[in-house]
Amino acid sequence: MSVRIEATADRQFHTNSYLVEDEETKDAVVIDANLEPQLMIELVRKRQANVKAIVLTHTDVDHIAGLPALLDAFGPIPVAVHDAERHVVADGKPLRREFGASMDPIDNVVSLTDGEMFRGGSLAFEVLHTPGHSPGGVTLKIGDNLFTGDALFAGSIGRSDFVNSNGRALLDGISAKLLSQPDDLVVHSGHGPATTIGRERKTNPFLS
Ligand SMILES: [Zn+2]
Repeated sequence: MSVRIEATADRQFHTNSYLVEDEETKDAVVIDANLEPQLMIELVRKRQANVKAIVLTHTDVDHIAGLPALLDAFGPIPVAVHDAERHVVADGKPLRREFGASMDPIDNVVSLTDGEMFRGGSLAFEVLHTPGHSPGGVTLKIGDNLFTGDALFAGSIGRSDFVNSNGRALLDGISAKLLSQPDDLVVHSGHGPATTIGRERKTNPFLS
C-alpha cells in the first residue's frame, strides 16, 4: 500500500489536520479537525479522495472545532475517538473545565481501542493509547508513520498541567508506546513540523 500524507494547519493554534490517503484506492482518513476545516475540505477536493472516517487523537477544542464543517462536507462518516473522551463528541461535553466551549453532539461515534486496528476504507491504523495530555489521547500508526496528537512534538511533549492531565502517564506512554518504535518512524504531531522517533530519542530535552 502506498500512503500519502498531507497536513493543513490553522493560523490560530497551528493545529495540524492530516489527510491520510491510500493512493491506489483513493480511500482516505482525516486525522483531527482543526479550526480551519475549509483548508482540509479544499485539499480533499483537490485530491479527489474519498474520506471514510475522521479520527481524533484527542478532543481539545483546537482538534475538534472543525468537525461540524467536515461532516457537512464529507457526509455522516464515523468519528473515531478513545472511549475516555467519547462524551466530548457524543454528548457535546467540554474536555477541559478550563475551556468551557462545547459543541453539538455527533451521532456516528466509534471507539478507538489500545492495541486494536482501526479501519477506514482500505486504510488500517494501529491504535496506541498515549494518555497524559488528556485521558483518551491516542497515537495512530500506519506503515512508517505515527500520528501522535499532543503527546509528542518535535523537541517537546504535550502539556500536562490541566486538571485531567497526568504528567507521569504522558512520559510512561511516550516511553512504552513511542520510543519503543524504530528510529526511522516519522512522527506527525498535533502541532508543528514532523520529526522521527530516532531524532526525538536523541535530542528531545523532555525525554532524557
Ligand atoms: Zn493541540
